[in-house]
Amino acid sequence: MTDRKTELAANLAKVEERITAACAAAGRAREEVTLIVVTKTYPASDVRILSELGVRHVAENRDQDAAPKAAACADLPLKWHFVGQLQTNKVRSVVGYADVVQSVDRSRLVAALSREAVRAEREVGCLIQVALDAGASGRGDRGGVGPEGIEELADLVAEAPGLRLDGLMTVAPLTGEYAGREQAAFERLVVLSTDLRRAHPAATMVSAGMSADLEQAVAAGATHVRVGTAVLGVRPRLG
Ligand SMILES: *Cc1c(COP(=O)(O)O)cnc(C)c1O
Repeated sequence: MTDRKTELAANLAKVEERITAACAAAGRAREEVTLIVVTKTYPASDVRILSELGVRHVAENRDQDAAPKAAACADLPLKWHFVGQLQTNKVRSVVGYADVVQSVDRSRLVAALSREAVRAEREVGCLIQVALDAGASGRGDRGGVGPEGIEELADLVAEAPGLRLDGLMTVAPLTGEYAGREQAAFERLVVLSTDLRRAHPAATMVSAGMSADLEQAVAAGATHVRVGTAVLGVRPRLG
């Protein structure tokens, strides 16, 4: 193995151990939680190694970086998740490679995703990004819609040609009542997911938890954790 492959294998094993322990502590089966490795800022060569090591889900947050990476890795059996704030002018590109867009947070974006998914003859999974620190505007600083906005957006996605409503996503808030209370935030997301599934029973994905708080997410009931730093290392630049 190359040095990088050895390093990534060791990091992956540690993350796997953490997820397994968190599942055990929560009385959950390991299969209930899917690991998504966030490869943003890291090269396509790392994505290739991760694929060789058995990773099946990767995530990116910037189309400029993600599009060429996904093209370079098109031969690999990977599912690509888009987790960043998404401008409508990038939607055509993102729909070209993303299997799931986790950052759906406004009706204009739903319309653009639907239009481009139909054009590309693809079905794109959508998660509503929930901002648990949304202010009076009903929107979060880092994207996301406040809890009161979920239902309307979910109905729009469910009715939109080319789109599939898969569930909810959140990032632990840095401000507001949930600041520093990651597990409470993720538990709130799970309650919101339960509400959502009354009208949309197939929308079962709950995407929550990153390198620093994946245990809290698993304890709260997340189905997907998004881990970057703990697998790939500290990112060379903000992203
Ligand atoms: C970068 C990122 C992650 C991963 O964060 P780490 O702390 O590196 O594990 C997860 N989710 C989103 C939305 C991100 O942008």
